Amino acid sequence: MDMIYRSTRGGAKEVTASQAILQGLAPDGGLYVPTSMPKLTKTMSELSQMTYRETAFEVLSLFLTDYTAEELKACIDAAYDSKFDTEEIAPLVQADGAYYLELFHGATIAFKDMALSILPHLMTTAARKNGIKDEIVILTATSGDTGKAALAGFADVPGTKIIVFYPKHGVSAVQERQMVTQKGDNTCVIGITGNFDDAQTGVKKMFGDAELAAELAGKGYRFSSANSINIGRLVPQIVYYTYAYAKLLAEGHIADGEKINVTVPTGNFGNILAAYYAKKIGVPIDKLICASNTNKVLFDFFETGTYDRNREFVLTSSPSMDILISSNLERLIYHIAGDDSAVTAALMKNLTEGGRYDITGEMRARLSDFCSGYATEEDTAEAIRTLYDRTGYVIDPHTAVASFVYRKYAASSHDAARTVIASTASPFKFARSVMAAIDGKASDEDDFALIDRLSATANVALPAAIVELKTAPVRHDIVCETADMKQEVRRFLDR
Ligand SMILES: *Cc1c(COP(=O)(O)O)cnc(C)c1O
Repeated sequence: MDMIYRSTRGGAKEVTASQAILQGLAPDGGLYVPTSMPKLTKTMSELSQMTYRETAFEVLSLFLTDYTAEELKACIDAAYDSKFDTEEIAPLVQADGAYYLELFHGATIAFKDMALSILPHLMTTAARKNGIKDEIVILTATSGDTGKAALAGFADVPGTKIIVFYPKHGVSAVQERQMVTQKGDNTCVIGITGNFDDAQTGVKKMFGDAELAAELAGKGYRFSSANSINIGRLVPQIVYYTYAYAKLLAEGHIADGEKINVTVPTGNFGNILAAYYAKKIGVPIDKLICASNTNKVLFDFFETGTYDRNREFVLTSSPSMDILISSNLERLIYHIAGDDSAVTAALMKNLTEGGRYDITGEMRARLSDFCSGYATEEDTAEAIRTLYDRTGYVIDPHTAVASFVYRKYAASSHDAARTVIASTASPFKFARSVMAAIDGKASDEDDFALIDRLSATANVALPAAIVELKTAPVRHDIVCETADMKQEVRRFLDR
């Protein structure tokens, strides 16, 4: 029996996994969710003997049941290879009483690589399985991390093209260099003179532009999304929580069946939802600790049962978590409503119309798996400095938010469960904030000077992704007005 996916809003027909991956968002605006939750078929003790790729196969085959074993293995082998700088793919580092699950050893040194290195393969396989001949064109607006990870994932993948728009004056120097030096004839990177919202709005308009879609279909193209609402990004993230537990068991840090806690620095709610799904399929996880930065809309939601995006948006040192609408929370809402799409659709309507919604007491009771906390900018810097002073281990600001929240939770709850902290970015990607936290003051050195100093401070060699940047030639130099985005898409596809 194939696993079936349905929209959280109930207004779209049920689809297989490969169809859900091709579509990204359901046609009614909802997110695809599995209609039943599978269970791991291997014991934790069996899993503890497996490599990352073998673990990935076990987890992916539970959810992506309309792919054959050969198809899944081919996707996994193409994704988790020497693009990662360690055989372990996701190493676990013990520091100051917690276990940091390093998810930043891929091509772009942030955790988006964990899913975006396999998504292109899952998507082109899905196109083949469903008899789709069109070339897939991925359109993405990025505030920095997602764009580069999607570019690296889709570069030179046959049957795909990828176009990324970024705010010319709204990303860090390292982030911009990472994108404009991207290789691959099927890649296109465009700076726009507007901000991230302008880029996002422009991309959404193109997705909804029926005339453009028809014109492109005539040329053999169809648009798709590599955004984190795609179930093809969520499922690969369940793998590393399963792997982390198995690793703790293999190394004797826990007994078989002993429950662990997981702390996740959260923005769009994709990463922590994957941990929730890991728990559902049978990984012995107790608490899921949701860590927010100053944009603490999720913390307030867990505290009060009200989600309210009507508040000031704050730019922080953990920019990938600067988000007021956590898209993937919709999947959790659906599950705590008892898999009720009518309730979910109504709440999401409230969110669109008034920017807020309230959940019932019964739904709140189903949130007992979760705890939450948040870190201010001072807390975040303090967490980086403290961990460095105690252990010499250096973490990035996103991971530091989780580290702070974990320490606070452990101190106030007296819960001594072993804790895995999702470490979502390499500190080298955010060298300015990291060095400021360690030095206690801002610096006027340029980004690459700071990166070298960080390398000396942390006693960690520069990742290849950073070394390459210093000499990589610029391959993309188009800058356009927001109004001309569509024009640029046509121009690239007509080449
Ligand atoms: C995307 C991102 C996050 C947030 O993850 P979500 O799945 O959106 O909650 C945290 N840290 C880093 C470095 C990221 O790139």
